[in-house]
Amino acid sequence: MKKTFNIKFLIISFMMIFLIIVLTIIFIFQYFFLDDFYRSDMLKNMYSVNDRLTDGIENNALDDVIENMGMSNDVCVRVIYSRRTSITGFQGMCPLRYLSNDQIQNIYIDTAQHNDERLFKNFQLRQDDVAIEDLYLLSSIVKDAGGNNVLVMVSSIIAPINATISTLRSQLLIVAVILVIAVLILGVALSKVIVKPFNLMTSEAKNLSHGKYDGEKLKLGIKEYDELNQTLIDSRNRINEADVLRKELLSNVSHDLRTPLTMIVGYGEMMKDFDEEKKNENIDVIVDEAKRLSLLVNDLLDLSKGELGRLELKKEKLAVNELLSSVYNQYSHFLETKNIKFELINEAKDKYIIGDDKRLKQVLYNFINNAINYNDKKAPTITLKASLDAEKVEIGVLDNGKGIKESDLDKIWDRYYKVDKEHKRKVVGSGIGLSLSRAILIEHNFEYGVRSKYQEYSYFYFKAPLLKENPKG
Ligand code: ADP
Repeated sequence: MKKTFNIKFLIISFMMIFLIIVLTIIFIFQYFFLDDFYRSDMLKNMYSVNDRLTDGIENNALDDVIENMGMSNDVCVRVIYSRRTSITGFQGMCPLRYLSNDQIQNIYIDTAQHNDERLFKNFQLRQDDVAIEDLYLLSSIVKDAGGNNVLVMVSSIIAPINATISTLRSQLLIVAVILVIAVLILGVALSKVIVKPFNLMTSEAKNLSHGKYDGEKLKLGIKEYDELNQTLIDSRNRINEADVLRKELLSNVSHDLRTPLTMIVGYGEMMKDFDEEKKNENIDVIVDEAKRLSLLVNDLLDLSKGELGRLELKKEKLAVNELLSSVYNQYSHFLETKNIKFELINEAKDKYIIGDDKRLKQVLYNFINNAINYNDKKAPTITLKASLDAEKVEIGVLDNGKGIKESDLDKIWDRYYKVDKEHKRKVVGSGIGLSLSRAILIEHNFEYGVRSKYQEYSYFYFKAPLLKENPKG
C-alpha cells in the first residue's frame, strides 16, 4: 500500500527541514568563515586609512586628514618624517607608540625592500613591560610634497574572536529553540487553515453520489478549493440531470413498449377468441406493431453502443445520388398517402463520399421522421437536399413544420430530450432519434447541425467531405 501522510505532518516537516537548512548555513558561516570575514574587514579598513594618510602626505595636508578621519575602530597610525614623528592613537592606546627606533629602522628597510608597502601579520611587539601579539601592521613609504621619504604605519590588534563566537553560538542555540517553537505553532496554524475547508468539502462530498452536494454554502477562501468545489457542484448538477433523463427514458420507453405490446396481445386474443377475426388485416397489425417494437429496441441498443463508442461503422465509397434516391424512394409512396409534399433536390450528382450506408440512411430516416412528426401545417412539405461547397457536400432535410425555439436548439440532440414533454404516440420513429443520429455523425467525424425558426421551418443537416479521387472504380 502506498504511504499517505496528513497535511499537518507534511507542512511541519517541510518547515522543519527548511529551518534546519537555514540554521546549518548560519552555523557553518559562523564556525568556519567568521574569522576570515573579520580579518578581511579589518584589512580593508587599514588599507583605506593608509590611502587617506598617503594622500594627505603627498598633498601636504596630513593634519587635516587626521583631523577629519574621526574615530576609527581599532586602528591606530604612526607617521614618521625624518624631522618629526606623529602618533595618532584613535582608541586611546596605540601600540605603535612602543616601537623602538631599531624596530622602526627594520620596518623601514623591510618596507623599502617590498616596493614601499609591507603588511606584517602577527607582528610581535615587545618593549619593556608591554607585549602585544597578533598585531596587523601595514607600513608604506611615500614622498611628501618636499620630496622627502615618509614612513606611514597603520596597525590593528586582531581581537581574539573565539569569545565572540561562543557568544554567538549560544545565541544561535536560543534562536534555534525559539524558531522550532515558532515553526510548530505556525505549522499547526497553517495546516488548520488548509485542512479545515478541505474537511468541510470532504464531508459534504460524501453526499455527492446521491446527487446532493451543497457546495454553494461552503465558504472556503482558497482559490484551488473554490475550483474543486465548483467542479463538484458541476458534477452534482450533471448527476441530477442524468437522473432526470434516466427517469424520463424509463417512462418514455415503457410507454413506447406498452402501446405495441397492448395491441399485439389484444389482436392476438381477439383472433384466438373469434374465428371471424382471423384475417390478414389483423395479422398485419400484429406484425407492424412487432416491427415497431424491434425498431425501438434496435435504436436503444445502437444508442448505448454509440455512447460507449462501440458503433462500428462499415465505411465505404458512397454515391451521393444513390444514397438520396434510396432514401427518397423509401418514403415517397408513404408520404403521398399522407398528403405530404416530398421533394428531392440534388446538387451533388456524380459526387462521392466515404461513410456507412446503413447508418447514414438511419440518420436521414430520423430527420425525415421528425419532419413528419413535428409538422402541423395544412400543406406540409419536406425537402431532401444535397448542396455543394468547395470540399464538402451538405445533405439535409428541410420541413415547414412547427420549428424549434432557439432556447431548445442545443438541447434537442441530448438523449431523450423533448421539446413537448407530453409523450404521445408518434406516427413513425422510436423517440431517441437525434441523439442516435448525433452518435453516428460524430463517429463519422462529420459536421452536423440544425437551423430553425419557430413555427416556420426546421433544417437538419450533416456535411461530408467529398471524395477527391476519380469516381470510377
Ligand atoms: P423524438 O422525436 O422521439 O422526440 P428526437 O431525438 O428525434 O426524439 O427529437 C428530439 C426533439 O427535437 C423532439 O422531441 C422535437 O421536439 C424536436 N425536433 C426534432 N426534429 C424536429 C423538427 N423537424 N421540427 C420540430 N422539432 C423537432
